[in-house]
Amino acid sequence: MVSLSRFAHTYNLDETVTLIHSLRMKPVYLTREIYQSLKAWLDSPRCATIESIPQHIQEEVKELIKCKVLVQSDDEDEQVLHFIRSSIPKPSISVCYFILSEQCNLACKYCFLGNNSADTRKSFSHEDMSVETADKAIDFFIRQLNLSDYKEIRKPMIIFYGGEPLINFTVLEYIATRLNSLRKTENHLENLEMSVITNGLLLNEERLLKLKQLGVQIAISVDGFTEETNNMRVDVLGKPVFTRLLKVLDECKQLDVNISLSVTLSENTIKSTEHIFELIKQYDIKGLGFNIMMSDGSFILPQSYNDKAASFIINAFVKFRELGIYEDRIIRKLDAFAKSQVYFSDCAATSGSQIVIVPDGKVGVCHGCVAGKKYFVSDVSDNKFDARTDDTFLEWSQISPVNNEKCLDCAALGICGGGCPVNALHSKPNGTLHTIDERFCAHSKQTLEFLIKDLYSIILSDGVENEQ
Ligand code: SF4
Ligand code: SF4
Repeated sequence: MVSLSRFAHTYNLDETVTLIHSLRMKPVYLTREIYQSLKAWLDSPRCATIESIPQHIQEEVKELIKCKVLVQSDDEDEQVLHFIRSSIPKPSISVCYFILSEQCNLACKYCFLGNNSADTRKSFSHEDMSVETADKAIDFFIRQLNLSDYKEIRKPMIIFYGGEPLINFTVLEYIATRLNSLRKTENHLENLEMSVITNGLLLNEERLLKLKQLGVQIAISVDGFTEETNNMRVDVLGKPVFTRLLKVLDECKQLDVNISLSVTLSENTIKSTEHIFELIKQYDIKGLGFNIMMSDGSFILPQSYNDKAASFIINAFVKFRELGIYEDRIIRKLDAFAKSQVYFSDCAATSGSQIVIVPDGKVGVCHGCVAGKKYFVSDVSDNKFDARTDDTFLEWSQISPVNNEKCLDCAALGICGGGCPVNALHSKPNGTLHTIDERFCAHSKQTLEFLIKDLYSIILSDGVENEQ
């Protein structure tokens, strides 16, 4: 008996109906007439046996069976799900966050680390990372790299982070210099990438040139080209920082130092893509990533924000790709969709590939948990630690929509990757790491719909070209 898979979803596009299996992600486009015939056949009392397929829909039914949208036995869906779940990678470390300082010179109103709360700020360490701890941290990271699955480590990555990492510039310089000198002797470090994620205000000519020389990429947080779009970015006295930031961006341009932008989508930023477009043109930006704001007990965002932020990301993607600029977040989903490969996790913590090292040498899973040091399970002196077998790292590596019963009937299951478990944990009174990060659902669902439509328009335009 043939029936629709539990993972089958339907989209209406003008004259066409699209059917897609949420874990196989190969859309099948049918005319409305064929779709109606298919439905009638599936609903017919003949129980839709293969032998009873009407002649005029035979090709389409075969294609739908191939794409698993139609199943021929009761356990076919279970088998697909079992296979997908068994493919979730185990921890394999390739990314290391060096939290050089837990302190920050700003107190952005949307800071997910908690720098906007006087109480949380008190829980951040006042001791920056020392050279001694940095040395042990480098050795610790190399040990984890050597334990990891070699095939998985295409590009190991160091991310200098905070607080504000440039507060401790001397140690950043020390770490980058030592890692560069280790490239020749440590196999896994040959293709190492290093980047610093900074609010930019502590950059100056000397530091910019030093970072360029060391090969440390610079990502600066900025939310648009006006005071209004940047009004969430304030210093500890609550004063806006945008004018100071523009001076830094000008200096980067004058010195020919490439930067990328880390744009948090404030409610003012998402009113128009123009401000980001202006930034890109003015400063010749080649890369950018969007951050959707997070809700917590004290900072609540309405659902309308999530929907608008999701639309903004798609509109910006369409506009920026004409310039050859691709935003990271949507590219990750596009990649999964194009390759029909399930995207298990949208963050390095839940993909089991990252460690985070704080100034006192503790080692954890997620840089969003620095305030309370939850999920910090080791330290840099622990020569025996192995993320592949650690319970906490194992648990985090299995956090994925495909392991969440509440996600199984969602059309975006295969491209989603889930959002941020830390946000999910804090967004509801009884939240856990396994609660759905609903803020992210609007983004995943709208993106899937966009990808299906976009692919269809490419198919149509290719068809027109072939006819000409
Ligand atoms: S859990 Fe959230 S804060 Fe932590 S690494 Fe993932 S996305 Fe970032
Ligand atoms: S997190 Fe939301 S969008 Fe993602 S699979 Fe689950 S329900 Fe769907």
